[in-house]
Amino acid sequence: MTLMAPGKTHLSKSSLISAWQCPKKLHLEKHHPELGELSAQTESLLATGRQVAEVSRQIYGTEDAVEIPFNADVRLMLRDTARLIEGGPDAPIFEATFEYDDILVRVDVLLPDETGGWRAIEVKASTAVKDYYVLDCAIQDWVMRHAGLSVTAFSLAHVDNQFVFAGGGDYKGLLVEEDLTQKIRTVEPTVADLVLSARGSVAGPEPGIPVGMQCGKPYVCQFVDYCWPMGAEYPVSGLGGSKAKLGDYVALGCEDIRDVDVDNITADTQLRIHRVTCGGAPEVLDGARRTLQSLPYPRYYLDFETIAPAVPIWPGTRPYAAMPVQWSCHIDDGSGDGSAETMRHKEFLDLSGEPPMRALTEAMIACLGDGGPVLMYTSYEKTVINALIDRFPDLAAPLRRIVERLFDLHPVVKNNYYHPKMLGSWSIKAVMPTIAPQMDYSKLEGIKEGTAASDGFIEAIAADTTQQRKAELEEQLLRYCKFDTEAMVEIVRFFTR
Ligand code: SF4
Repeated sequence: MTLMAPGKTHLSKSSLISAWQCPKKLHLEKHHPELGELSAQTESLLATGRQVAEVSRQIYGTEDAVEIPFNADVRLMLRDTARLIEGGPDAPIFEATFEYDDILVRVDVLLPDETGGWRAIEVKASTAVKDYYVLDCAIQDWVMRHAGLSVTAFSLAHVDNQFVFAGGGDYKGLLVEEDLTQKIRTVEPTVADLVLSARGSVAGPEPGIPVGMQCGKPYVCQFVDYCWPMGAEYPVSGLGGSKAKLGDYVALGCEDIRDVDVDNITADTQLRIHRVTCGGAPEVLDGARRTLQSLPYPRYYLDFETIAPAVPIWPGTRPYAAMPVQWSCHIDDGSGDGSAETMRHKEFLDLSGEPPMRALTEAMIACLGDGGPVLMYTSYEKTVINALIDRFPDLAAPLRRIVERLFDLHPVVKNNYYHPKMLGSWSIKAVMPTIAPQMDYSKLEGIKEGTAASDGFIEAIAADTTQQRKAELEEQLLRYCKFDTEAMVEIVRFFTR
């Protein structure tokens, strides 16, 4: 086994994947990481990956399995791995670390096989094999084999979304394997070229790569705010549509939506965004007022928060199954002035750690009464309630009656309203600052978007969360969910006043 020389620079597998996505991305990661910013969604995906990796230790572990702990001094990880390998294959190794030609890889799982070689497994939190995983595995395979390891097979283990958690901490069956050995060995000859080009990207000046499709695929790049022209009043990225087409506009020198030649736009939505932005005033059509004024009372404004953990928490649940854990409801009986302050408000949040879905459903049925529209923003609430019908067949009848009363505000807003500051988005977070500037999600304390709410709930019910932190999270969760229904109330007020 080769040990890396002290002080020698090296690249990781992640560096090579970055170079493959965009040479400029790798250059910036190495020279100007401070210019990048990971989104909350990306942070959450990384955390999910760590959770699934943790469970893989249980699935593939044996009593004599060994994990190579992370050490900033990679020589120690290489040394410990080499010692284990030189002892001959006899026990699983997690995070075995190898280096070849200055490329460093840490392999999720190495299992000894009966031929005296090793079977490698890459663990992913996704529910299917994606094309770019083959390159990810090929890089590891290339390094391990050049470092002298006998790799007899290479599989990818991903989450099986049909797995049902039986409880008791038993996650056997959560991961399903696909043998990628043949595909990996076909791709492997390209790895050496990728290494060369990656080195060139790091050693040379910042590559002059134009923005485009690669900025969001396969991973959302953390340097989007640096590379895309964001200084304009209405940045061209707000026109929406494909990143490739937006990249073409940038290449033509367009930084602001208003710089784009209308003759280059074909899609109706982009034409509308362009027209309203160039006009400089919001578009408000009368259809929203007429539709919303016709809604009878009582009106219920409903919003759920859900979690969809890759590693199920409660028995009987599947990976990534969206489960409601909280709701907020404003109830307008028509006697007030249409503001949230003059309405009744009810909510549900149970941070005991027990599955809350049954109590949540019963409380929601009781809250929503027998009649009156149930307003929501997007059809997500409908999807959630339909899943509750499957989960609790004995509550199917009242839940179906609720589904029949659902009224989606999103298409009403989308069809009748656009403000240039929405920058191509009709999400409630984009709409609110344009109709009720005091209702700016970004000013909320702590939890201010759905991913953070989901992560916050899971943190709040974790056994090792302090009571103080739990109380903080409870306050933030209740405030965030209530803010969502207050926002819907404000939307209706805006169009009907
Ligand atoms: S934002 Fe796009 S062009 Fe810039 S580094 Fe990332 S992928 Fe490359």
